Amino acid sequence: MRPTYDDDNIFARILRGEIPNDTVAENEHALAFRDISPKTPVHVLVIPKGRYVSFDDFAANASEAEITGFMRLCAQVCAAEGVSLAEDKPGFRAITNAGPHGVQEVPHFHLHIMGGQPMGPMIS
Ligand code: IMP
Repeated sequence: MRPTYDDDNIFARILRGEIPNDTVAENEHALAFRDISPKTPVHVLVIPKGRYVSFDDFAANASEAEITGFMRLCAQVCAAEGVSLAEDKPGFRAITNAGPHGVQEVPHFHLHIMGGQPMGPMIS
């Protein structure tokens, strides 16, 4: 059973153009924009344009084109933000939070791409 999608969540509103965002890159299937409260020098959120609550919802239910479009936009962001290993840069962290245990605030799947500094351990 799929989780119920809330069309009033803030990222749905960004996708509808109701709330401004600081766009980094976009394609047919995904949008990347700067986190409003960045935790690291590079902190970009990548979201699918479709209605997916969480990573597992997206991974299970998105089309191949949506998944490819999302992943390619992630690669584009890493290159544009100067953190891609493909360009011999020092790397980044890509994380997604899901549900209460993951401490997910916004119930529209998003990947945090974070970098520009050493990230430290995942859980301290
Ligand atoms: P989560 O805990 O993984 O759901 O993270 C949600 C993220 O969305 C947080 O890092 C917030 O700072 C970020 N955020 C919330 N509202 C906005 C917004 O309007 N624009 C950009 N980022 C936002």
